[in-house]
Amino acid sequence: MKIDVLTLFPELFDVFRRWSIISRAIEQDILSLNTINIRDFSHDKHKRVDDYPFGGGPGMVMRPEPIDRAISSIRTEDSVVIYLSPQGRTHDQQLANALSEKEHLILLCGHYEGVDSRVVDNLVDMEVSIGDYVLTGGEIPALVLIESVIRLLPGTLASEESYIDESHYDGILEHNQYTRPRSFKGFNVPEVLLSGDHGRIAKWRKYSALKNTYIKRPDLLEGIDLAEEEADMLSRIMRELEKEE
Ligand code: SAM
Repeated sequence: MKIDVLTLFPELFDVFRRWSIISRAIEQDILSLNTINIRDFSHDKHKRVDDYPFGGGPGMVMRPEPIDRAISSIRTEDSVVIYLSPQGRTHDQQLANALSEKEHLILLCGHYEGVDSRVVDNLVDMEVSIGDYVLTGGEIPALVLIESVIRLLPGTLASEESYIDESHYDGILEHNQYTRPRSFKGFNVPEVLLSGDHGRIAKWRKYSALKNTYIKRPDLLEGIDLAEEEADMLSRIMRELEKEE
């Protein structure tokens, strides 16, 4: 996969290129991650890329021409151009899965009051938000999107199971996890995890995943079809929790 990030702050990505799974994906040729400074495409003698908003108001708006030239310099038929924006669809695992199938992502990071709306309406395929709050720039949202996507590329993680089991991959949250010591301040690891019985462990993990989802994110259960055994487990969890109240 190729990812080009259009930004006014390319240096922000330097550390991440050398960091953990991003560096591994780059080293293994799974990912080519490039940053492009939008300022390099300004024809202004002071390399300015922003201007006052028409109609007045606070802040500055990023002009369309440098962004247009930057996108045109790299866009191909296989590119998906994404503007990181608080007005976009909220990023989630489903979108990360879909984007991990693409060959080339172009991520446009805004700054100031954002980009001229003609960019959004005419040059961009998709607006993506990382949540209902406003940040100063699109760089951190771009990194969130990059990480969520590249960990799904074959070969980036040690084993495919690492992400298949994780929260949100199949619509629910992950089961509880424990490591040493077996007993911590009197709190014990569930006995079943020490049993070596893989069948029972798998069942317990499904139970724990459903319980976590029901307690922490019941909304997720509304959108998924549970197998009969899982639906029975969920009813049991609900009865148990009712009794505890
Ligand atoms: N004036 C814009 C608005 O109210 O919709 C917000 C501009 S924000 C200060 C500057 C840039 O940060 C945006 O152009 C966008 O690239 C990025 N940004 C801010 N919040 C974001 C979010 N929640 N998700 C994705 N990008 C965001």
